Amino acid sequence: MDLREIGEFGLINRIRKWMAASDPALIQGIGDDVAVIGIGSKALLVTTDILIEHIHFDRSWIDPYRLGKKALIVNLSDIAAMGGTPKYFLISLGLPKNLPLSFLSSFYRGLKEEGKRYRVDLIGGDTSLSQRITINICLLGEAKKGRILFRKGAGIGNDLFVSGTLGDAALGLKILQKKGPMGRPMGLMKKQLSPCPRIELGQAIAGGRLATAMIDVSDGLLIDTAHLIKESGVGARIWEDQIPLSRLYRKWIASYSKDPYQVALTGGEDYELLFTSPPDRREEISTLALSSKIPITRIGKILPQKEGFRMIRKDGKEYSPSRMGFEHFR
Ligand code: ADP
Ligand code: MG
Repeated sequence: MDLREIGEFGLINRIRKWMAASDPALIQGIGDDVAVIGIGSKALLVTTDILIEHIHFDRSWIDPYRLGKKALIVNLSDIAAMGGTPKYFLISLGLPKNLPLSFLSSFYRGLKEEGKRYRVDLIGGDTSLSQRITINICLLGEAKKGRILFRKGAGIGNDLFVSGTLGDAALGLKILQKKGPMGRPMGLMKKQLSPCPRIELGQAIAGGRLATAMIDVSDGLLIDTAHLIKESGVGARIWEDQIPLSRLYRKWIASYSKDPYQVALTGGEDYELLFTSPPDRREEISTLALSSKIPITRIGKILPQKEGFRMIRKDGKEYSPSRMGFEHFR
């Protein structure tokens, strides 16, 4: 058996079984957006993400300054998904010999600016020769113990909400990769190059006890919903026509896909927050959307596990998605 058969998530499930942890201070090990370790009334949050040249990015469409920012953003988003506060990070780099120093000075300028915006400091890392640029950040954060949102915790009858709009980053990537005509939509490309980690929104949701479970949408709405409901032991329905789509997405999607929803459902890297809440929180959630100026849309409902996970079309017909989203090795 090789990795193609089990995929990225099949592999992670096996690692989780092989390496079961038992330390009593460990609140959450493998299986969430970050690991959570209890220290008194607080919790230490730890997350790591890797970016590899030609897999996650190409130098032809992202400049080193934006790459530095994005390397931090993808990690910040995982802390946001817990409702936590990011604090410190380490960065390990694999670099080819012929890389200009100016690439690295711009890369670190991006890192520094993004770090300053979210008040996180670089505290170390590692450096090695590599054929392709490889970037790994480990980000540490903190949260109050009782105010953390996990992937598990969604209850039957909860609403399913998502922040922002979906599919913009994936459509932006298609546009960036196609050395296309002038007048390409900056907004979509920007969502791919410089997404916004929802740190403040995550903190408001967790701090206000507005949700029961939360995850960031990094691999695609369907796959990340599947992760959340699997950890919570529940099922779900999502109304296709309720998926929040931006004006630019609606305008450009027809040039890239026959199905207007496919990219929004399966495309990754939007770094929006997906969360579940009891229906009596609807009003507070609308108020938060207004005050934060970030749209929050009710897109579905949590059901018992035996109901599975399906989409509902505008005409009321249900379907099981054939493709869930991005998964390495598949
Ligand atoms: P995210 O998309 O939020 O970054 P992932 O899908 O990458 O989450 O990872 C899911 C879970 O699996 C996390 O708890 C992560 O720490 C863990 N994980 C991923 N890869 C490995 C690995 N190679 N070894 C151990 N744990 C891993
Ligand atoms: Mg995540």
